[in-house]
Amino acid sequence: EKTVHSLSTNQVVVSLAVAVKELVENALDAKADKITVTLVDNGVELIEVKDNGSGISADNYDKIAMRHATSKLQEFDDLEAIGTFGFRGEALAALGAISTLKVFTKTADDEIGSALEFDQYGAITSHMIKAQSSNGTIIRVENLFHRIPVRRTVFKQNAKREAQRALATMMSYALIANARIVVTTKNGRSMKTEIQTRAGDSLKGKIASVLGGQISKEEVIEDHLQKARIFKFNGFISKTDSGGRTSPDRQFFFVNGRPIDAPFLSRIINQEWRKVTSKKYPVVVLNIEVDQSAVDINLAPDKRTVLLQNQKHCQFRFRILLQNIWGATER
Ligand code: ADP
Ligand code: MG
Repeated sequence: EKTVHSLSTNQVVVSLAVAVKELVENALDAKADKITVTLVDNGVELIEVKDNGSGISADNYDKIAMRHATSKLQEFDDLEAIGTFGFRGEALAALGAISTLKVFTKTADDEIGSALEFDQYGAITSHMIKAQSSNGTIIRVENLFHRIPVRRTVFKQNAKREAQRALATMMSYALIANARIVVTTKNGRSMKTEIQTRAGDSLKGKIASVLGGQISKEEVIEDHLQKARIFKFNGFISKTDSGGRTSPDRQFFFVNGRPIDAPFLSRIINQEWRKVTSKKYPVVVLNIEVDQSAVDINLAPDKRTVLLQNQKHCQFRFRILLQNIWGATER
């Protein structure tokens, strides 16, 4: 049983980026509107995610890092229209199995906070009270992958690149979440604020905060909204006469506010862009709104791969939208 536990949980958290993503999603699920992420030594030493959300109530402590223990899914019917990021209760179990997991939490009903530590099977090994004035949760993941030595070695070798990937993932949440998100890195003695947004900001404001330094002055991005019968596209995109860089790392896609990988859309956007400019890649921050029952987000463990019903139709509508936007500025 215990062997099965650690073997199968290894598949859930496959990278630093996935670890950070799961922790931030938990904070958002807890209705936090301020989330602070700290990566120490590129996440090799420590990942810490602090939120001002609901906190965890004492009767749920022993389930925090247990597999399939989730407080989020009420009825099976809910799978059709999941409103939270998490629903499988696997992330913290996985993190506990491969790293050293510590949780600090306090709900509004608690007079004092709790500090919890877990063993690799998800059982609580230490429970202490902790003076904690503000409500919310701090999750600390120390020495990620240290229980899988080979994986740990590879992670350390690629830590810088892994940290860059994690930051790119955090950018997508910072762009879309209705929360203030601050991401800080500490490497040796140097400390850097990598991402910082404000809670009430518009999407345009968030783009300026998150990508500001990476968008040139000429490269005005415009918002375009189109309501189609099935899909609503909403977001910002480069204008054709812009300057801009020739790298694809400024393209962010969302479905119903959920960050996704969307090669089926970036392919089209880059194709259409090349028809009107010599620059290779535009800036895109695009949210597709679609009926939740037409989205399958439960494909890959990282939940970033989505399957849309009518995906072909979505691509078709998207291409027409782009041709309208960029064609019009050309004429
Ligand atoms: P899931 O998100 O799928 O429910 P997780 O393993 O990510 O599973 O988390 C397990 C449980 O721990 C959650 O269902 C939730 O009850 C609790 N939890 C985790 N992180 C937080 C947080 N930041 N704030 C409040 N509760 C949390
Ligand atoms: Mg979760």
